[in-house]
Amino acid sequence: MNEAHCQCCVVGAGPAGLVLGLLLARKGVSVKVLELHPDLARDFRGDTVHASTLELLDQIGLAEGALELPHSKIQQMSINTPAKLIRLVNFKRLKTKFPYIAMMPQENFLKYLLDCAHRYECFEILFRSAVTGLVTDEQDRITGVEVKADGNQYSIKSDLVVACDGRYSKVRKMAGFKAENQSQPMDIAWLRLPRTASDDDSQAGFYTADGNLCIVLNRVDLWQLAYVINKGEFSRLRKQGVESLREAVGKTVPWLQDRVDSILDIDDVHVLNVRADMLDTWYRDGLLLIGDAAHAMSPVGGVGINFAIADAIEAANVLTEPLLAGASTTGHLAEVQNRRYSATRSVQKIQTRVVNQITKRAFNDKEFELPLMVRILLKTPVLRDIPARMMAFGPYQAKLED
Ligand SMILES: Cc1cc2nc3c(=O)[nH]c(=O)nc-3n(C[C@H](O)[C@H](O)[C@H](O)COP(=O)(O)OP(=O)(O)OC[C@H]3O[C@@H](n4cnc5c(N)ncnc54)[C@H](O)[C@@H]3O)c2cc1C
Repeated sequence: MNEAHCQCCVVGAGPAGLVLGLLLARKGVSVKVLELHPDLARDFRGDTVHASTLELLDQIGLAEGALELPHSKIQQMSINTPAKLIRLVNFKRLKTKFPYIAMMPQENFLKYLLDCAHRYECFEILFRSAVTGLVTDEQDRITGVEVKADGNQYSIKSDLVVACDGRYSKVRKMAGFKAENQSQPMDIAWLRLPRTASDDDSQAGFYTADGNLCIVLNRVDLWQLAYVINKGEFSRLRKQGVESLREAVGKTVPWLQDRVDSILDIDDVHVLNVRADMLDTWYRDGLLLIGDAAHAMSPVGGVGINFAIADAIEAANVLTEPLLAGASTTGHLAEVQNRRYSATRSVQKIQTRVVNQITKRAFNDKEFELPLMVRILLKTPVLRDIPARMMAFGPYQAKLED
């Protein structure tokens, strides 16, 4: 059995793992990122890069390169009903260099982060490398991971292991953590429809009609649709068949009617089991969990990537110096959680309220209306940009303390 060593072993090359690896390596911390898959290809994942992430990239000179990747910009979000257009958020009024959400395929964004990280000699990524176990010492401190790669098993010793292995985190399970699940009333059926030359970027948004809710996302060369269903109802959708789905999509988003036939089979639909959860404690001796591994976010507001990256920023802020000095302690890990816990918790609470309200109102045949309080909020000049700010930055913006 081989053995390797590094100062920080990052499990998972998603947004959290790659940003953390990049930020630590940039300061000279030796990092190994272990990724189960052979590459960064991802389908039906978050594509929303918010102002908070672009500002971080800007701070380290990488925003311009990221914005050279093919992307579209969401500057406003609205709900379209058969009778009216309800304006929800307007990012254009925010005081930021990036008053929009950049929609870019996650795969391209991750590849870009990886290219940037490769500039640093102390950064290494190992693909096809699944973490299968944790190494502990006599005091039960985690001192490394066991890895299975191409049929070979070996271990990596590390001063700190950071689990960034996503919502189904294996590290979380192996370390004995149990997340508190927050019940969600919906699931999402993802599908794609072609774009035509006459389509306009501004057609992206929320659509509701006839008790259906669809979110149309602009993926530059095609439309990605999130067709929202009641929790656990995919088997009903499947039973009803593809024709019924085409009809529902066409009725909800009438301008897509002319191409619903491109949904060939119900098996083309990718179902997202919407979940949100949170660990009470994000660390134990020698191990920190961040991103979805610590708190899977509901898709409301498309903030999952950005919250994962904000965790990585705070982890880098707190841990870089101690890791360089070989002196990271459990107290430092607690400090990372302290910096992120309440912002994450409060946004999850808001997401749950929004999802309950929106689904309750969209899944009935009455004309869709926002709750009275929200209508007042969106009409009051000093308050109306709160939702946009929360989506762009959360209640508190993580900044790199360079
Ligand atoms: C269908 C879908 C749509 C979404 N849409 C949006 C959206 O529009 N906007 C948004 O912001 N967020 C969205 N999200 C959420 C967003 O993708 C996540 O919040 C974000 O990717 C979390 O980043 P992460 O780095 O914590 O974890 P992940 O991105 O999940 O990355 C985890 C990585 O760990 C690897 N891994 C897992 N186990 C192991 C192991 N044992 N060994 C080694 N590697 C391992 C995985 O292969 C993966 O690469 C969506 C999620 C899904 C599932």
